[in-house]
Amino acid sequence: MTAASSPSYIGRFAPTPSGHLHFGSLVAALASYLDARSAGGRWLLRMEDLDPPREMPGAQAAIIEALHRYGFEWDGEWIRQSDRHDAYAHVVERLFSQGLAYACTCSRKQLEGYNGVYPGFCRNAGHSMENAAIRVRVPELEYAFTDRVQGEYRQHLGRDVGDFIIRRRDGLYAYQLAVVLDDAAQGVTDIVRGADLLDSTPRQLYLQELLGLSQPRYLHVPLIVQPDGHKLGKSYRSPALTPEQATPLLLRALRTLGQPTDDRLEHASPRQVLDWAIAHWDAALIPRTHTLQEAHLR
Ligand code: GLU
Ligand code: ZN
Repeated sequence: MTAASSPSYIGRFAPTPSGHLHFGSLVAALASYLDARSAGGRWLLRMEDLDPPREMPGAQAAIIEALHRYGFEWDGEWIRQSDRHDAYAHVVERLFSQGLAYACTCSRKQLEGYNGVYPGFCRNAGHSMENAAIRVRVPELEYAFTDRVQGEYRQHLGRDVGDFIIRRRDGLYAYQLAVVLDDAAQGVTDIVRGADLLDSTPRQLYLQELLGLSQPRYLHVPLIVQPDGHKLGKSYRSPALTPEQATPLLLRALRTLGQPTDDRLEHASPRQVLDWAIAHWDAALIPRTHTLQEAHLR
């Protein structure tokens, strides 16, 4: 492939190093990897280390190690969001100077009782950027897209979200902004990730529109939850992926994604399981549910 040609499929896996990879992240990584490779596409790895206070020491190395042990191969060097602050700052300043974003000095207490929808107190206050959160103004419009698994999804940004944060008051950049800028900078055409991010997607579509970026295709896979309803991994202790379990957990993740498996694969290497799964991948078989309970997976 020449440098000038743009591949028709670029996918990515974008883990947050707040903890180890767990079964839920394996399902997302696997779906994104198989979808890319079965399309002859590239697959990139991006470490979403936007929030140092919430980072688990050693998590970045542990994630890379686990992906290797499970047979995943990505294209090129993996990147870190912590190396991209200049790009984020540039866009925040531009949106602010254009009046598309504004500074907000509201305290957490002032925002209690609005169900997470920002009531717009600082919209016309004209605060300066220093020591303030930066919020992007949202239109009173519904944003919709067609997810490859979940079907049509729509959300009214003004009513259901409100003006949202792109840079926190402590100077950290928001996931919503970073993910949109990075996917565009890396030329990502296809986003395959967990269904917990379905309701972030309309905000991301709005930012893409605002910044003149093209819209990728989306596929949201079911989220794996604990029997008590807790999301795996986030704010809940879930087992890390051990190397010994690689083949059985890959097979279990394949079944979770509704994909066929073969008894002979039980003794195969992780790499052999992945190669077999690339050849048999069918995204249309993925269950159209938002959550699956881990206990019900065999
Ligand atoms: N870093 C996010 C997470 O681990 C995923 C972001 C994305 O795939 O858009 O939940
Ligand atoms: Zn405010």
